[in-house]
Amino acid sequence: MNTQDLKILYIEGDGVGPEITPVMISALKCAVERSYSKPPKLTFEEVLAGGKAERLTSESLPEETLRKIKETGLAIKGPLMTPVGKGKRSLNVALRQSLDLYVCQRPVRYFAGVPSPVKRPEDVDMVVFRENTEDIYAGIEWPSGSAEAKHVIDFLCNEMKVDRIRFADTSAIGIKPVSPDGSRRLIRAAIDYALRTNRKVVTLVHKGNIMKFTEGGFLNWGYELAMQEYRAYRKDGKVYIPASGGDILLNDCICDAFLQNILLKPSDYSVVATLNLNGDYISDALAAEVGGIGIAPGANINYETGMAVFEATHGVAPDIAGKNAANPLSLVLSGEMLLRYAGLDEAADSIIRAVETTLKAGKVTRDLYSLIEDKEKAECLSTSDFASVLLKNIG
Ligand code: NAD
Repeated sequence: MNTQDLKILYIEGDGVGPEITPVMISALKCAVERSYSKPPKLTFEEVLAGGKAERLTSESLPEETLRKIKETGLAIKGPLMTPVGKGKRSLNVALRQSLDLYVCQRPVRYFAGVPSPVKRPEDVDMVVFRENTEDIYAGIEWPSGSAEAKHVIDFLCNEMKVDRIRFADTSAIGIKPVSPDGSRRLIRAAIDYALRTNRKVVTLVHKGNIMKFTEGGFLNWGYELAMQEYRAYRKDGKVYIPASGGDILLNDCICDAFLQNILLKPSDYSVVATLNLNGDYISDALAAEVGGIGIAPGANINYETGMAVFEATHGVAPDIAGKNAANPLSLVLSGEMLLRYAGLDEAADSIIRAVETTLKAGKVTRDLYSLIEDKEKAECLSTSDFASVLLKNIG
């Protein structure tokens, strides 16, 4: 156990953020206090981002927020609003890039009692490592008809002799940078995680059949890394990484087939390493299999500097904001990841047990209740009532 006191910065978030963030803070404090005879002190300090930051400072991501996160190295955030197609960059993407949080880590597991659209949701137990700083998400793009887009298209057509831009006069242009450095550090984090947590399969998910040098590069660099840094070996046409308690199978899957396989045979997969856009789709598809984004946690981590920002994976849920109806579990379970990351495993375990007990008893918020077929076995709770039950069940 980590006996050090812990300072955690938090961003309250927009929309349902002010309703779910206090639940997360109470759950973490309660878990730590009840799990140790001499509990470390947990201090939460608010930093501003999103709508609240704009109202108070007229900036949506103040420099001070970035500075404090860099100094403290540990933060958790509620969801932040991103206007679509208005030329304004996503705050989430800006945070990940400016702090170089290159791993987006999303554990996906099933809790008994949660409604699921698949027959065997208990077979889903994966941890997705999504590359967070490169790919088409890097935000290098220009709108249709802009001087910049025309300039890039002219360069491609005239200097690079590209003749495959179907509507060269009107195309918007986006650039997809993918590097060996960026791919290797992400895949290294995924393999290290499998070694640390005794997981036995790491799968590289890619579209290298179509995008040969970017996604195909990711795949090749992954296998090279395993050979060079982890003494991987081939046996019967498969690649294995030596590990105590049984070697790890390193394999790969094309992304579209992977999206089928996670429905048809999810137990084949355990740790998944993939690029940014694939990872975005995969994380939400997997979350849907085990109860939806309302309960899926996530973290953005730089495993080299140790800096980590944990986050609710859903958006600001404008349709239910202010109605005391949001499910706080995505953020609470992100807090559970934070505790584990900080070495407070016993407190993290007590949150998992409390979530299991609460959901198994049929106590759920409206998002899950609306999907439960046998309504007699469940009770639909407001955010605050759900929080009370959860806190009672911790420890
Ligand atoms: P959303 O996640 O906000 O909502 C999608 C659906 O899920 C809605 O029906 C909503 O009510 C429901 N939902 C989401 N969170 C829930 C919760 N905790 N409990 C119960 N139900 C929940 O996605 P959206 O509508 O596509 O996006 C709205 C805004 O959020 C956009 O501005 C988007 O950019 C932003 N967003 C932010 C993040 C983030 O901060 N990490 C992630 C996704 C979207």
